[in-house]
Amino acid sequence: MTDKIVISEENEEFLAKVSEISGQVITLCDQCGTCSGGCPMVTEMDLTPSQMMRMVQMGQREVLDSKAIWYCASCFTCTVRCPRGLDLSKVAEALRQITLRRAVDYIDINNFPKDDLARLPQIALVAGMRKFTG
Ligand code: SF4
Ligand code: SF4
Repeated sequence: MTDKIVISEENEEFLAKVSEISGQVITLCDQCGTCSGGCPMVTEMDLTPSQMMRMVQMGQREVLDSKAIWYCASCFTCTVRCPRGLDLSKVAEALRQITLRRAVDYIDINNFPKDDLARLPQIALVAGMRKFTG
């Protein structure tokens, strides 16, 4: 029988928060790696999707500092392949939401080149700010 891994109360709170926002039972992840194997963005990420899941399972808030949560394109490849039925894109979104709620600017719209501001569709700017503003 496998011993239960005990994590600190603070880490437990973080796991509970991500679980609540994402609606996923993150502890079900058995680290099979299927998500990482099929992710089209994994070569750009500093953490693989399965590493992201493991850090959340362990309640490690440092996952919020990773670029991987922003590089996830919500393509759902991992979602349809996960043998545990987990929606990792929702977990990545939950991690972004937690960062966004800290209300710390990640980028400054004032530093955008004026040409880009005039050229880019507004919906792309809003989507970009949503992902890149914390
Ligand atoms: S595919 Fe599912 S069970 Fe496997 S590592 Fe990824 S999230 Fe965990
Ligand atoms: S939803 Fe995100 S983590 Fe999953 S395969 Fe797509 S880019 Fe990778």
